[in-house]
Amino acid sequence: MALFALLGAAIGSFLNVCIDRIPAGKSLVTLPSHCDACGHHLSVKDLMPVFSYLWLRRRCRYCHAPIPWRLFWVELGSGLLLALVYWRYGLSIDFAITASYCYLFIVLMVIDLEHKLILNKIVYPAMVVALLISIFLPQSRIIPLPWPETVDGVIGGAIGFVLLLIPALIYRGGMGWGDVKMAGLIGLVTGFPLVFVALLMGVILGGLVAGILLLLRKKTRKEPIPFGPFLAVATIVTLLWGNNILSWYLGLL
Ligand SMILES: [Zn+2]
Repeated sequence: MALFALLGAAIGSFLNVCIDRIPAGKSLVTLPSHCDACGHHLSVKDLMPVFSYLWLRRRCRYCHAPIPWRLFWVELGSGLLLALVYWRYGLSIDFAITASYCYLFIVLMVIDLEHKLILNKIVYPAMVVALLISIFLPQSRIIPLPWPETVDGVIGGAIGFVLLLIPALIYRGGMGWGDVKMAGLIGLVTGFPLVFVALLMGVILGGLVAGILLLLRKKTRKEPIPFGPFLAVATIVTLLWGNNILSWYLGLL
């Protein structure tokens, strides 16, 4: 698990590059890593995930400009998450698919937090990949359904899209088209019936946090709180424990 945490943190430093460069339309591969403040190229010892951050005390080695906290949290979160996915699924196809999806949603979440945007250039290709995975590598089910499991992804995607399309049409401006498309992607990724778990959890999480922020007067009603990050967190939890949550819930009925 420690090994996977280290590997995950290294992937996290690549995710940070994606989060910086995809919204700006920059190439992910050609530019070497550099300090945003002084432009100095970073060497391997500056790029040790999590550790360089702590050794260098959150500052650039060359110009001493502070490094944003986000780099640290994404690396740490990516590391812990990979260890968690390994602990949950072992070394398997499910491990590879779940880990990739978790990283996809980390990138979507942080870009939404920083830019209030859910980028089509990430969501559309991800939809195609998720559709292919749902057809060729469908998830195992915990409840019997009358149709083949190869269509669970498509059904989940359609449900996710429609469930968020309705509030987006009713409360114009409250929820963006980005959220609607993201809900479609979440349905493709989690499939039917787990799409309900992911979306419901996202709504509850978003409502709780929005309520707390309103109570603490950190936000006013006029300021929209991006919904994408809550959907992303809920999707990651669903990818890890969705079936457990569903069977617990069905057991209650
Ligand atoms: Zn610098």
